[in-house]
Amino acid sequence: MSVRGEFRSVTADLKALLAPRSVAVIGASEDQSKFGGRVFRMLLKHGYDGAIYPINPNRPELFGLKTYPDIAATPQPADMVVMAIPQPKVRPTIAACAAAGVKGAIIITSKFSDAGPEGAAEEAELVRIARAGDMRLIGPNCLGVISPANRVVLCSSPALDVERLIESPIGFVSQSGALMATIFDRAHGQGIGFSHCVSVGNQADLELCDFVEYLIDDDRTQVICSYVEGIKDPARLIRLADRARERGKPWLMVKAGRTGAGAAAAYSHTASLAGSFRALEAVCRERGIVLMDDTDAMILLAASMARFPGRKVANVAIVTTSGGGGAITADRLTDKGIPLARFQPKTAARLDVVYSPGQANNPVDLGGRREGEAVDIAGATMQAVADDETVDATLFAITTAPSVSGIAANLADAAIPADKPFIFVLQPGRAADKARQELINRGLPFANNLDEAIRALAGWVDWSAWKPAAQASRPAALPDAPAAGTGALGEAETKALLASYGIPVNRGAIAADAAEAARISAGFAYPQVLKIVSSDIVHKSDVGGVVLDLADAAAVEAAAARMAETIATRQPGARIQGYLVQEMAASGIELIVGVNNDPQFGPIVMVGAGGVLVELIEDVALAPAPVSPETARAMLARLKIGKLLGGIRGKGPADIEAAADVIVRASWLAHDLRGSLHEIDINPLIVRGAGQGAVAVDGRALFRTEG
Ligand code: ADP
Ligand code: MG
Repeated sequence: MSVRGEFRSVTADLKALLAPRSVAVIGASEDQSKFGGRVFRMLLKHGYDGAIYPINPNRPELFGLKTYPDIAATPQPADMVVMAIPQPKVRPTIAACAAAGVKGAIIITSKFSDAGPEGAAEEAELVRIARAGDMRLIGPNCLGVISPANRVVLCSSPALDVERLIESPIGFVSQSGALMATIFDRAHGQGIGFSHCVSVGNQADLELCDFVEYLIDDDRTQVICSYVEGIKDPARLIRLADRARERGKPWLMVKAGRTGAGAAAAYSHTASLAGSFRALEAVCRERGIVLMDDTDAMILLAASMARFPGRKVANVAIVTTSGGGGAITADRLTDKGIPLARFQPKTAARLDVVYSPGQANNPVDLGGRREGEAVDIAGATMQAVADDETVDATLFAITTAPSVSGIAANLADAAIPADKPFIFVLQPGRAADKARQELINRGLPFANNLDEAIRALAGWVDWSAWKPAAQASRPAALPDAPAAGTGALGEAETKALLASYGIPVNRGAIAADAAEAARISAGFAYPQVLKIVSSDIVHKSDVGGVVLDLADAAAVEAAAARMAETIATRQPGARIQGYLVQEMAASGIELIVGVNNDPQFGPIVMVGAGGVLVELIEDVALAPAPVSPETARAMLARLKIGKLLGGIRGKGPADIEAAADVIVRASWLAHDLRGSLHEIDINPLIVRGAGQGAVAVDGRALFRTEG
C-alpha cells in the first residue's frame, strides 16, 4: 500500500481486500454453532483458492489445515482477517492485526456505535488503531462479504448453505447485514447471483460509497444495488452517481426512513414536505440514481438490466394468459405512468393470423386465439411482439392456465434469443411452481406478484428517461450579497427579501393599531387584506388573523379592531406586533414554493399545490437548488396540480413562465444564503392566467440564530 497521506484510490485498496491472497479466521473451529466454525467452513466450501489461516490456539489443525495460535504467528500477514469475537476483545485483536501487517479486517461484532456513545468511542478507537497501522476495516456490526466473482465468502449466514455460488454482474452494498443475506437467498432461489455483496454495518472506516466506487470500476459488475439507511458523504454520493452514469452502470437504491419523523416539528410546510428523504430523492432524480421502495423489485430490475446492459425502456407490451390479468396489468402500468406500446401494423397483421378479430392488440391475451391451445401460440406471439421495433420491453403476466409451465417455457425460449428486455410475473401460487422452475432452469428472473414487476419496470423507465439537468444560470440583477436575517422572519420581512430577488409580492405595510391601519390603507389599491403581525402566530388564518376582501379604509379599521378581539379568544396571550395592511391579489391557482436547506444536501427547492391543499394532498416536486427554468417547468409538470396549470375545463393555461421564474429565483436566494437560511416558503404563490404573472401573498423564513 502507498504511504499514508498521499492520494490513493479506494478501489485499489478494495481490490486487495475483496480478492485477498490470504484470509485469517479468528476463532476458526469445527463447531457449526459458532461464527468461527461457520465462516471457516463457508470459505472452504465455496472454493476460496488463497491461503487460509485458521487462528485457534487450542487445536493443531482444522479440516486438514494447519492452525495458528494468534495472528502474529501466520507465515505471511493475512490480506484479510474476519472476526466475530466478544466486543471487549475486538480492540486488542485489531491492534494485533495492525501490528502483524494485516491489510483489512471484517468486524462482525456489534455493540459499538450502534449501542450508544461509549460504543461509538470504542469504535473510533478501532479506526484510530487501524489507520495508524495502514489497515482498513469493514463493519463493525456487519455480516461481512460474499463475493462469487472472487470466490471469497467471509460471511457466516445460513443463506450460504448452497451447492454453489452463482455469479451475476450485480453488485450489492447493504447497510443491513440481515437484508443482504435475505436478498442473497431470495435471488439465489431464482438462479440470480451477484458479483460482490458487501454488508457495511456501522461504516466506521470503509463506507457504502467506497464499495459503490469499487463496483463502478469493477469489470464483473454491470448493475449496482444498494440498501441505504443514512448517507455519510453526500458530495461523494453525487460524484459517484455521475461516474456510474458515465460508465453506463445503473445504480439502484432502496433507502430506509422514507416516512421519517421530524416533519411534525418543522416550522414551515416546506420543511415538513421537504424532509431529508425527499432531499435524497431529489438528488437521486437529478443524478440518475434509481430510487426504489422495495428490495425485491430492485433485485428483479438489476437482474433484468444485467441481461440487457444499457437498454432503455419507455413502453411495454403485455403478453398474458388471461384477459382480466391483462386489463389489470395495463391499469397498473398506466397508474405508474408507463405507456403501453402500440403495435406496428405488421405486428398486428402477424397476430391477426392466430388471434380472433380485434384481439391482436396490446395487451395480447393468449386466450384470444382462433384455435388450438395457448401453449401452441405462445412462442409465435412472443416472436411477433419481439420483432416489433417500437416495442421496448415485454411483461409476461402469467395467471393460472392449462399447461402454464409449457407457456412459460415457450415464451422464454422465444424471448431469450430475441434480445429484447422482458420481465415475467407468475401470479399463481403452487400452480405455477413448474413454470417457475422452467424460468430458474433458464436463469431468468421473475416476480411473483404484479406489484414487484411494475415497480421494477417503473425503475427501468425512470432510468431510461433520465437526462442531465440543464445548467442553472444566475438570473440578471440578483443582489450580490443579500442580507442574511436571524431567527424567524414574518411575512413582511420575508416578502422584502423575496422582492430583493425579483419575486413579485403584493404591496402592503404594517400598522400599529386600527386607526393607523385605516390611514395606511388609503395609500393602497382596493380591495385589501388585513393580517395579524405576531411572532407567536405561525398560521395566521387558523386564529382569525387574515381578513380578505376589504373594500375601503373603514372596513380595514373595523377588521383590525375585530381581529384583536378574535385573537384574544382564539390564541390568548399571543403578542400582537401590529396589523399588515396589503393589497388583495386577483384570484388564481395557489402554489407553495419553498426551499429547505437540507443538512446533508444543501438547499432543495420545492413546489406544490398550495393554500389549504398543502396539507390535504402532498403534491410536491423537489430539486436541488439552484435550478434552471427548464427544471422549474419540469417540476411544475410533475405536479398533479400541473394539469390545472396547463388549463382544464374551459379555463385557459396559467402563467407557468411566471411560476417557473419564482421557483428559479427562490432557488438562487436559498443558494446564496445557504450558510444561514434554514428554510423559506411562499404560501401561497398566486399564479394567474398566462401573461398575467404570479404573486407571493404570504411568506416566512427561518434563519440560523447563532453566528
Ligand atoms: P396563513 O398562511 O398564515 O394562514 P395567508 O397570508 O397565507 O395566511 O392567508 C391565508 C389565505 O388567504 C391564503 O392562502 C390566500 O388564499 C388568501 N390570501 C392571503 N393574502 C392574500 C392576498 N393579499 N390576496 C389574495 N389572497 C390572499
Ligand atoms: Mg400562508
